[in-house]
Amino acid sequence: MLYRLNKSGYKAYLVGGGVRDILLGLQPKDFDVVTNATPEDIKKLFRNCRLVGRRFRLAHIVFGRDVIEVATFRGHHSETDDKVSKSNAEGRLLRDNVYGEIDEDAERRDFTINALYYDISDYSIRSYGGGISDLNARTIKLIGDPETRYREDPVRMLRAVRFATKLDMQIDATTAEPIKTLAPLLSDIPAARMYEEVLKLFFAGKAEENYQMMQHFGLFAPLFPQVSALISESPKGHAAKMLQAVMRNTDLRVSQDKPVTPAFFYAAILWYPLKQRADDIAIESGLTLYDAHVAAMGDVMEQQCRTISIPRRFSTPAKDIWQLQLRLERSQGTRAFKMIENPKFRAAYDLLLLRGEVESGNIAKIADWWKSFVEADETERGEIAKSSSKGSNSRNRNAPQRKRRRKPAAKTKPAAE
Ligand code: ATP
Ligand code: MG
Repeated sequence: MLYRLNKSGYKAYLVGGGVRDILLGLQPKDFDVVTNATPEDIKKLFRNCRLVGRRFRLAHIVFGRDVIEVATFRGHHSETDDKVSKSNAEGRLLRDNVYGEIDEDAERRDFTINALYYDISDYSIRSYGGGISDLNARTIKLIGDPETRYREDPVRMLRAVRFATKLDMQIDATTAEPIKTLAPLLSDIPAARMYEEVLKLFFAGKAEENYQMMQHFGLFAPLFPQVSALISESPKGHAAKMLQAVMRNTDLRVSQDKPVTPAFFYAAILWYPLKQRADDIAIESGLTLYDAHVAAMGDVMEQQCRTISIPRRFSTPAKDIWQLQLRLERSQGTRAFKMIENPKFRAAYDLLLLRGEVESGNIAKIADWWKSFVEADETERGEIAKSSSKGSNSRNRNAPQRKRRRKPAAKTKPAAE
């Protein structure tokens, strides 16, 4: 398709992550093309072409399962700022004009390693601002003045972290320097965009590394204020341990090609904020722990959605996972047979296991009980269920009791959180 644009007299380049990944010997996720042909020109050349986007019009060219995104050099757009259009007005030579356009396009990209252009007409790579040497030196370096570029788009701070871990590169010192100061700007990013960025950070096999680096730069707190408040109160407490456990667990599942879902991820990350909120509600209102728990689910999820808009198809099952935690704490014995039929059982059980890892003590015992039950065959399960319903184990003393109605909160408040 680059050839067809070329033959029709347009300049066309492969650009961005695709070129970078090929040069690094990695499998590119997707390819982006930039050209001086306008979207309308492109549409005339390709029948398999759709025009998308309102503010930035793009052409999508469909090849079977793949979609190639074709953008027109930004300089062509009417939104072009004064500086760029002025320099455009100089030298009308077509060649100069074309190179001028590619420079403008490059200046708008984030990192030098993302501003590499593969020119199909002479098989050359054009590098902008030292992209090739930064690639060889394994350095993530912003194009232009870092502070200005982060203020233009604070998400670039997250992208710096993501590329550093994904590509196993170092963030250049001048690119890293302003991040700690500017990190709070992330709280102004639209929550829908943040949702997408968070998926890329935590669901691509590098969750643990990204999490550590985000904490190092202060990039985690603006996105997850509730759990971050607990972590800074108690840096080695349950919430902090849970975060480590979730990240490690997610990476492990990705590496084993097991499915990962935002429902579980957010349920786990927000579990301790939820418990704390439930305790507060129980104390303030005198609700039972169970009712307080249900009320807190809505509060905690709503507050998280202010920074990261979690689609309902994930926030609803996340709440189911939360609600099932209370039932798992009580349903040992013969009720367990019914519990494991619940479609959300598996996810809820997985969270219980993480809680067991994090807390030890009573929850760890309950988690162990479930583990032996789940891993047993039918007949063994019967034995396990019977043994626990004799009521001799400690969970009967500590698990929330149904009958006790008023103010159980003070009793069950977690000791160290
Ligand atoms: P990935 O492997 O994650 O797809 P990528 O580099 O292709 O990495 P994309 O988000 O697909 O990243 O963006 C494609 C290209 O668009 C980037 O390589 C970069 O040149 C440019 N780009 C994307 N996001 C920004 C941004 N926030 N600011 C500036 N340029 C950006
Ligand atoms: Mg890409």
